[in-house]
Amino acid sequence: MWDLPVRLIATDAKHYRLLPFRFMRMNTGHDRDILLTSDTGEYMHVNDAQLRALSYFDLQASTPFYKDLLARHFIYEPGRHDPFPEMAAQYRSRKDFLFQGPALHLFVVTLRCNHTCQYCQV
Ligand code: SF4
Repeated sequence: MWDLPVRLIATDAKHYRLLPFRFMRMNTGHDRDILLTSDTGEYMHVNDAQLRALSYFDLQASTPFYKDLLARHFIYEPGRHDPFPEMAAQYRSRKDFLFQGPALHLFVVTLRCNHTCQYCQV
């Protein structure tokens, strides 16, 4: 017999779907101790109850927390909201530097320098 609680969720009951994200407990001692991050660079600090409600599809659509998750692309509403064009634009902006040339050049002309400039790797 299973000791773990098992929760079955009918597909119709889900009014939102999860988008890919990571989470990590930060051990800061604050109430919102869990950091959520998305592929597009968005982040949020949440507490245990909020993360549980998010993952069990228990969020109420009228709450500010739900709207925040929607705006930051942690969730989306199938049929009502297509987040992928916005996410693609965000991702393209974040990685735009890959199409630029180098922004900084460092020349190491000697490894025998007696100065201690803080920015120098010598
Ligand atoms: S420590 Fe300063 S002076 Fe020496 S090589 Fe680096 S930048 Fe030049």
